[in-house]
Amino acid sequence: MANTQTLEIPIAGMDCAECTQHVRQAIASLPGVKEVNVFLTSEKAVVRLDPTLVDLPLIHKAVASAGYSAPTPAAPPPARPLANLTRPVLTLFGLVFGVVLFIVVVGEWLGLFEAITEQVPWPLGWIIVGAAGYSIFRNVIRAALKGQITSHTLMSVGAVAALVVGEWATAVVVVFFMRVGDYAEHFTTERARRAVKNLTAMAPQTARVERDDAEQEVPVEEVRVGETIIVRPGERIPVDGEVIAGQATVDQATITGEAMPVEVGPGSHVFAATMAKLGSLRVRTTRIGADTTFGRVVKMVEEAEAHRAEVQRIADKFSAYYLPIVAGIAALTFLLSGNALATTAVLVVACSCSFALATPIAMLASIGAGAKRGLLIKGGKYLELLARADVLLLDKTGTLTLGQPQITDVIPLNGLSATDILALAAAAEHYSEHPLAEAVRTAARAQNLALAEPSHFEAIPGMGVRVKLDGHLITVGNRRMIPAAKSLPVVAELEAQGKTLLFLARDNELAGVLAAADILRPEVPAALAAVRGLGVRQIELLTGDNERVAGTLAEKLGVAYRAKLLPEDKIAVVKDYQAKGHTVVMVGDGVNDAPALAQADVGIAMGAAGTDIAIEAAHVALMREDWTLVPEVLRIARRTMGVVKMNIAFTAVYNVVGLTLAAFGILPPILAAAAQSLPDLGILANSSRLLRQR
Ligand code: ADP
Ligand code: MG
Repeated sequence: MANTQTLEIPIAGMDCAECTQHVRQAIASLPGVKEVNVFLTSEKAVVRLDPTLVDLPLIHKAVASAGYSAPTPAAPPPARPLANLTRPVLTLFGLVFGVVLFIVVVGEWLGLFEAITEQVPWPLGWIIVGAAGYSIFRNVIRAALKGQITSHTLMSVGAVAALVVGEWATAVVVVFFMRVGDYAEHFTTERARRAVKNLTAMAPQTARVERDDAEQEVPVEEVRVGETIIVRPGERIPVDGEVIAGQATVDQATITGEAMPVEVGPGSHVFAATMAKLGSLRVRTTRIGADTTFGRVVKMVEEAEAHRAEVQRIADKFSAYYLPIVAGIAALTFLLSGNALATTAVLVVACSCSFALATPIAMLASIGAGAKRGLLIKGGKYLELLARADVLLLDKTGTLTLGQPQITDVIPLNGLSATDILALAAAAEHYSEHPLAEAVRTAARAQNLALAEPSHFEAIPGMGVRVKLDGHLITVGNRRMIPAAKSLPVVAELEAQGKTLLFLARDNELAGVLAAADILRPEVPAALAAVRGLGVRQIELLTGDNERVAGTLAEKLGVAYRAKLLPEDKIAVVKDYQAKGHTVVMVGDGVNDAPALAQADVGIAMGAAGTDIAIEAAHVALMREDWTLVPEVLRIARRTMGVVKMNIAFTAVYNVVGLTLAAFGILPPILAAAAQSLPDLGILANSSRLLRQR
């Protein structure tokens, strides 16, 4: 894959869902382009390409030939002061003219006025239509030359048909409503775009860096990793980093959605785009810009469009057939009734753009609303899957439990002392990141034991660790790891208490047992009850821990369980459910569960802020460790799909009714033109409800 490069190219001028298709096709047709994703909301294209075959100028040319522009930072689009002034004037004039004509024509149709418009000689009428619709007709012809049919194509044919039968005023009104429709769509897209832009605006543009013993304000991209920055009270932190001095309360709502500020001090990690209140901080930079947790969140939200829902794929497919179907109905209407006006109305009433908008607008609203509350949803696809999920699988350590187990018992066996066992265990766990390892180290530190440094560290996921220490082989882990651990009475007793046991062997000989207890997160039982209430029937605990610990906890929660699983066993369980046709959601801590999370239909990672693996592997990342977010995301998903279905049903019914009335000559072209711009606004209004999720 040496010859693959990924470029991100800003694209300007995309106003409708159709536009992304045109840009995509234009770029995809270039040789050397392997993959193209075009994003309507973040106004960019992400292109995977072979740099030896294609370069940026070539792509810019392709984009330009499709009728859009790819502005480069170096060459901003030329300012055109005259155009800036003439456009609003023309728009205003067009608006007044359009509305007046609309009233006149409707009035004529209702018989309120004498036929005023018929007084105008036809050449003048044609000139007015040409002037009003010039840019639209130009685009339609350009697209037609490339073999593309757009919704404007049919409407333009409708306008021309109206002209031919001597209804120039109707043609003008059709043009007018094409513009209104464009505007409605532009407005709808802008609205969705703003959600992402508001998010991006949370990150500060500059940082106060300590350089040469002085404070210096620099653009945030110029801060280097390792540099120290100063954050004053009331300022947003510009980078990810570690506090080296100072105390502050930090409002992390931008990342976690949690309104309660947290206390930070030396050693704490802080995130870009969060706000320091009360107190200044000196922070050593660990990450800047797109690498920060916040940067990743923004990127994922921007690119959420790439993971499109199945309903959207179906709607898109349908859109492709829709225009030919409408053209067919129009032809049929003309052949059967010979009524040119009815035919015109059929061509004009069709609003294919609404089908394309019905899904993404609702999805984007929910993804935006979720991001504000600490729920990072990577695409509409996952909302759709969550809405129909029927199996929930849970990881235990660090997910259901706080993941901060305490060592409660240390039992020496082969002539060693309890202190020896703890010291050996702590040495063995020196480099492990497992929560149990942390518990062992904490217990050793509490007894002021020095942590010896082992050589040859090896971690075996789901089992334990193995190290070399002073010439001995030290192993710490569960029974799988240490087969010598037989069922001693003391072991059975500890397990009956629901404790997790760590066996320690020296040179393959069992030397001691450590027991750890972990605390269940307090909000779990209520959250699981809520999940059940949302229709998820099967909830199952999957753990690498022993039978008894798993059983005790599962019973307490009223869920099924499987114990002693290795990470690959967890994947197998997920696959097994999937093979039986279930839609599986898995909640895990993201680090050692990453593969199972990725395999699940929807993998939800707990407490993902600051952990890259979790954010990358999961489909939904919970930015704070809070189980109430799990039923919440399910609820959001259901509401979203409800709105999507309503949008689609509304559009479908609207079109069927509109087409029928038009075909039978009941709906005059003039009202048909007005009618076609309404569904977009209906969809926008309906989907906006999702922005205000409680
Ligand atoms: P869970 O599925 O409950 O999150 P893991 O897969 O992380 O558990 O680990 C499963 C089991 O493997 C633990 O209960 C423990 O017995 C053992 N284990 C894993 N890593 C370690 C370690 N670093 N030290 C000791 N035991 C470990
Ligand atoms: Mg775990």
